[in-house]
Amino acid sequence: MSTSIDSGTARLIADEGAHLASNYSPLPVVIAQGEGAWVTDVEGKRYLDLLSAYSALNFGHGHPAIVTAAQEQLNRLTLTSRAYHNDRLGPFAAALAELCGKDLVLPMNTGAEAVETGIKVARAWGYRVKGIRPDAATVVVADGNFHGRTTTIVGFSDDPTARNDFGPFAPGFVHVPYGDASAIEAAIDENTAAVLIEPIQGEAGVVIPPEGYLRAVREICTRENVLFIADEIQSGLGRVGTTFACDREGVVPDVYLLGKALGGGILPLSAVVADRDVLGVIRPGEHGSTFGGNPLASAVGLRVVEMLASGEFQTRAAALGEHLEAKLADLVGHGVTAVRVAGLWAGVDIDPAVGTGREVAERLLARGVLVKDTHGQTIRIAPPLTIRATELDWAVEQLKHVLTA
Ligand SMILES: *Cc1c(COP(=O)(O)O)cnc(C)c1O
Repeated sequence: MSTSIDSGTARLIADEGAHLASNYSPLPVVIAQGEGAWVTDVEGKRYLDLLSAYSALNFGHGHPAIVTAAQEQLNRLTLTSRAYHNDRLGPFAAALAELCGKDLVLPMNTGAEAVETGIKVARAWGYRVKGIRPDAATVVVADGNFHGRTTTIVGFSDDPTARNDFGPFAPGFVHVPYGDASAIEAAIDENTAAVLIEPIQGEAGVVIPPEGYLRAVREICTRENVLFIADEIQSGLGRVGTTFACDREGVVPDVYLLGKALGGGILPLSAVVADRDVLGVIRPGEHGSTFGGNPLASAVGLRVVEMLASGEFQTRAAALGEHLEAKLADLVGHGVTAVRVAGLWAGVDIDPAVGTGREVAERLLARGVLVKDTHGQTIRIAPPLTIRATELDWAVEQLKHVLTA
């Protein structure tokens, strides 16, 4: 396989760049088709997809059961707005609430919208239930977080690229180090409405907190009468070998924020899921979305939840994750300085002597493997949960090759 970019591909990329804002720096491949864990580019070259659109493709490209649900709904009804009821939203909400063990679902579209919704719910709960004085509510967030791209959300990011030149930012957020429950405890005061964390930090490079952290956060939030909001947009829905990353510590947050894989790799679908005493604070007209809870997304989301309810994807992710972890562990000291694995999700820190994460991603691309770098030296591995063990083995062989070449 050659490392140079095909001239046809180069032309398509240049043409795209002529009229597209450069808010991303994609790897030089133009994908035209996908099936399962594999995609094909415009030149007919195949690649194993180890990114899965940042875990939005947990079930792979074009999973037949999800595509069928979408196609059937596409021919029936796609959009009503929430001005009316539709016959798909109720069943989706019921199934998702049951999967989460909660009472209520508030459907939105993107992950960032779920986070924004979670913040609004926490503040309204803070004023109306907890009795925080007007406009004083705060939310405790963790350093290294990634919760999306709205102005409020980037305002409490500590990534300069995400926030520089986009202020002024919304007040009301208090930062603590990630993984340190005592820092959360110290940051809480009478104005604290919620603690908002990722149970595993995805964009930060699959950063897994110390064992016991989530249990301690749960205990502190309960004792201090503060909502525990778990952003499971990337970590949830089977990725880590359990339905939610919080399940790894047997912890149930007050609020789940879900997105990415919820849309089955077909469309954007996100949700806030909580019990009635929390999500019930939102009254008609206070929050909404033209597309949130549309029948097409609901039909897809219902199928996704049905697939997760069987537990087979979680079991598969756990088994494949153990397999992957053993293979990756062998690379430490051989071009890799550290690996962090949770289910079928890995952060691999590349030895700077070998190159940057981006360079390794480009070399893997040339060998038919798609990954994405994050924060300079890390590559993230998050294949579809449907991938075969032999395909994972092949991908790790390619990684071994580019680390030693
Ligand atoms: C991707 C992501 C978001 C934002 O989701 P979008 O759909 O891109 O808006 C929020 N939180 C986490 C943890 C994410 O990984």
